[in-house]
Amino acid sequence: MTRRSLLLSCLLLAAVSLAGSKSTNVTEATLWFEQFSGEHRILLNKVVEASWASNTDINQENEKAELAARLQLSQFMLSKRQEMDKLFDWAHLGNERLKRMFTKAADIGTSIVTDEAKQTRFGQLRSDMIRIQSTATVEHPDTGEPIPLSRVVSLMASPDVSEAVKKALWSRWRDASGRPVKQMYEEYVDLANEMIKEAGYANFAKYWQSWYEPKEGQDFEQVMAELFNGLLPLYKELHGYVRHALMQKYPASIFPPTGHIPGHILGHMWGGRWDDLEPFTKPFPNEPQIDVTKVMREKNWTVRQMFEASQDFFASLGLGNMTDTFWEKSVLEKLPGVDMVCHASAWDFYTDKGDFRIKQCTEITGHYLAVTHHEMGHIQYYQQYEKQPVVFRGGANPGFHEAIGDTIELSVMTPGHLRKLGLLESDSESDEFYLNSLFLMALKKAAYLPFGYLIDNYRYKLFKGEVPKNQWNSEWVNQRCQLMGVSSPVLRSEEDFDAGAIYHVVANVEYFLSLLLQFQFHQSLCQAAGVTENFHKCSIYGNSAAGAKLKALLESGTSLHWEEALFKISGTRQISAKPLLDYFAPLQAYIAAKNKENGVSVGWGNNCPPDDWYKSASPSRQ
Ligand SMILES: [Zn+2]
Repeated sequence: MTRRSLLLSCLLLAAVSLAGSKSTNVTEATLWFEQFSGEHRILLNKVVEASWASNTDINQENEKAELAARLQLSQFMLSKRQEMDKLFDWAHLGNERLKRMFTKAADIGTSIVTDEAKQTRFGQLRSDMIRIQSTATVEHPDTGEPIPLSRVVSLMASPDVSEAVKKALWSRWRDASGRPVKQMYEEYVDLANEMIKEAGYANFAKYWQSWYEPKEGQDFEQVMAELFNGLLPLYKELHGYVRHALMQKYPASIFPPTGHIPGHILGHMWGGRWDDLEPFTKPFPNEPQIDVTKVMREKNWTVRQMFEASQDFFASLGLGNMTDTFWEKSVLEKLPGVDMVCHASAWDFYTDKGDFRIKQCTEITGHYLAVTHHEMGHIQYYQQYEKQPVVFRGGANPGFHEAIGDTIELSVMTPGHLRKLGLLESDSESDEFYLNSLFLMALKKAAYLPFGYLIDNYRYKLFKGEVPKNQWNSEWVNQRCQLMGVSSPVLRSEEDFDAGAIYHVVANVEYFLSLLLQFQFHQSLCQAAGVTENFHKCSIYGNSAAGAKLKALLESGTSLHWEEALFKISGTRQISAKPLLDYFAPLQAYIAAKNKENGVSVGWGNNCPPDDWYKSASPSRQ
């Protein structure tokens, strides 16, 4: 026993026996917390190490080790929760920061459950689902060879692949990765709800929403719904414009009469990102091209160079370089000869010695350049809040963590910065050129809005038990039709589980709020850099005033309620759709006028195309 912990034990014994009740003594509570933090950090590190091993080399042994480490952490959190409840009246500590630390430590989620079998099963289900997604293959419709998701994704994105092949891949991927996780996800939802009830939450959706610390009387889902509704006019114009362009390329027979876009021709397996459609949908095809992938390949860019470009951007803001450990231990390309989880991710190892890593199966493309910045944003967050106590080492809310790298991406992808990187040769400053550039960004970000919202909204409904299990797939399909205006290319049934074919669903990732936040951050940082309009042209590269604002936000971690963190960077405490709408305003005006000119009626029917439509006419629709 160290001298410090001996002192602590004496103090605590004295406190409990003398007062005969729980202590609110700040010194005692601080000492207790320091000791807890030290042990907590070590166990967290073990979990992250084990999880890293099983993510970069999927095998049963690694999976078992990860589950064991997670179980150990759960048991520790539960015992410490019981101890702090016994020793302290922590909700009445006279120090706000310390009280918040205790509040965070008390939130142990499903660790509250003492049943080891349940804990193990819960972890097992999640890793099984991720493994199925990461290792599934489908038969190539032409060659018959088995291909992994990464190949499927690039075929879906290619304008040269036929519509028939895309349709086959669309279904086959869902057969290979959605159907097999259907029962697991059902069990996962039941178990998550059962476990979280012990922690006092009505269901897992409510627990999830608690991470956003809604204020008394605030209805989180209502707030999200209002934000989403505010964005719909922009999305509807974009949807109408893109549908019109797709109708010039594909036969009319594949488009349902309901106004939906069939999901397999959007260039993305889930219809969330449409940027691969840009070459044949952009407003001004004769303007100089912005083709980052092409130039990167011509100039022989390397994976390392992509990460260095991102590091350089953050450094230019005064945020510092990546650590040596980052460069030594990150896995930046697919490892040969092993199965790994290729969905890109960033990791904090809780060593207090700068051990932060990225795992990413990087390809030399513009898309991966954006993903690289996204992941580097997580690393910068880790790095800046490393000095905070472990319980404060997190994003102000989950949306904040996802928004940082994307905020930087908004600067990086401006024509001005692409020129600086040598990725754009044209020096055009014409309005048409900038509308093309803005359009490309809209295909990435505005197109994603209803997809991000759908994923969150759908999961909330499942966890709240509002959808009978035998309607889970039709619920997904119907919500997708309603919110995204995107339909299935082939009829679906309850044998299918299309949502389960999406990594974000099974891995609990959420992006909707981060889409709004990144535009809010971008606008505020640009304003700090002296820019007052045309935020789509603004890059904050090299601006120390913007950098200082961002740094202040990152350093605070979760030590502040996110409203205060937001206030630090933007001067407002409310998440707002306005900066995003401001950003895209010139494009929205242009495409709305164009839709009118082309006689496009924007919007879509509330219901999916009827079964009859799928069954009738050409057999290729089946
Ligand atoms: Zn992320």
